[in-house]
Amino acid sequence: MNLPFAESWKIKMVEPIRRSTREEREQWIKEAHYNVFQLKAENVYIDLLTDSGTGAMSDRQWAGVMLGDESYAGATSFFKLKETIQRLTGFEYVIPTHQGRAAENVLFSYLVKEGDVVPGNSHFDTTKGHIEGRKAVALDCTVDDAKDTQLEVPFKGNVDPKKLEAALEKYGDKVPFIIVTITNNTAGGQPVSMQNLREVRAVADKFGKPVIFDSARFAENAYFIKTREKGYENKTIKEITREMFELADGMTMSAKKDGIVNMGGFIATRRQDWYEGAKGYCVQFEGYLTYGGMNGRDMNALAIGLDENTEFDNLQTRIHQVEYLASLLDEYHIPYQRPAGGHALFIDAPKVLTHVPKEEFPAQTLTIELYLEAGIRGCEIGYLLADRDPVTRENRFGGLDLLRLAIPRRVYTDNHMAVIAAALKNVYDRREQITHGVRITWEAALMRHFTVQLERITD
Ligand SMILES: *Cc1c(COP(=O)(O)O)cnc(C)c1O
Repeated sequence: MNLPFAESWKIKMVEPIRRSTREEREQWIKEAHYNVFQLKAENVYIDLLTDSGTGAMSDRQWAGVMLGDESYAGATSFFKLKETIQRLTGFEYVIPTHQGRAAENVLFSYLVKEGDVVPGNSHFDTTKGHIEGRKAVALDCTVDDAKDTQLEVPFKGNVDPKKLEAALEKYGDKVPFIIVTITNNTAGGQPVSMQNLREVRAVADKFGKPVIFDSARFAENAYFIKTREKGYENKTIKEITREMFELADGMTMSAKKDGIVNMGGFIATRRQDWYEGAKGYCVQFEGYLTYGGMNGRDMNALAIGLDENTEFDNLQTRIHQVEYLASLLDEYHIPYQRPAGGHALFIDAPKVLTHVPKEEFPAQTLTIELYLEAGIRGCEIGYLLADRDPVTRENRFGGLDLLRLAIPRRVYTDNHMAVIAAALKNVYDRREQITHGVRITWEAALMRHFTVQLERITD
């Protein structure tokens, strides 16, 4: 008999979580104005709001915490982090920041000017924010495949080289760099192939443009290259990440994802001019160059986390869990963005709640239903998140309306996955009775989904 798959770790410390009653949850979600960001975390049983900063550190990382060097300048923890990043990426220059968006802020302060155009694949919200906030344009050149949730292709996060080339021809001097997000978070945690990274590099070279990788989930991307792309079966994850980063000039990193720390980020680059140009902004916004907004202990934990999470077994355990949840959803016929992404599953809400009109926010309604059903907190990535059109002030119903179930790293067991799937099945089984959604009673002008207040619509 073949031995079944099992996790590549065992558990040394546990944190109790508490189930609640449906009556309690009815009360709590009402008090939260039907916005799961407003819930108290202690009132959540299984928390799938995000995989960012929610991972479980290893015993080695915790040991690193105790050995942190908190010197203001020149801490050994910084040099340990820098040496690890150099080894994994080949980038010589490293600037630590307190998280990913801070890395964007520091680097883009140097690189992005008013009127610029930055092409890429589905820029992440904060990346877009840091571009648009400088009165520049984030131009999406993702492959069209990404828009069809049921299409099963291996590298749905790719950049469309034709769209990219057209953008560079059109905007020429206005393009300071190309940014490739690996994995493509916004398109559902979908990976970008090595071949596509090479195509992007070729187009960039043709027009003499640099390339930045937004690298929050670069290790998960390398895992997908190893398991899905021809010629990479026998390479190690570390060999693949080196090969990936050889195709870029620099990177921004949210270490809260594949670095498996609760807080942290960095910029790394091979370009001395970028380092010299950006370092002043690090001092201005983040802190001195050898800590940039991080504690010494956290830089130690990050160095160890990066090393561990670029090992195949650790990534296999993680992605296997996401795929296991996907297999249960398949069994129950619940539609999600296919194939399963690296860090999350995205449920196609309008395909589940077919009676809830788009004006009543199907994905938010499904998010509420899942919480009421079992105390599970997902996150709407849909019409609420899309905000209003800045000119017409109409809701933007053009994109996808998804319920994201983000899986924290090394936190929940497959039994929790089974609970999540069963809870979704229960909602799915009574979908015909769910005929109404929610309406907005208060919203902020921008980034409304964090603070929006809603009420349920009843007959
Ligand atoms: C999370 C994330 C960011 C921003 O990082 P923070 O650490 O949350 O500031 C940027 N890009 C991508 C792709 C991300 O997933």
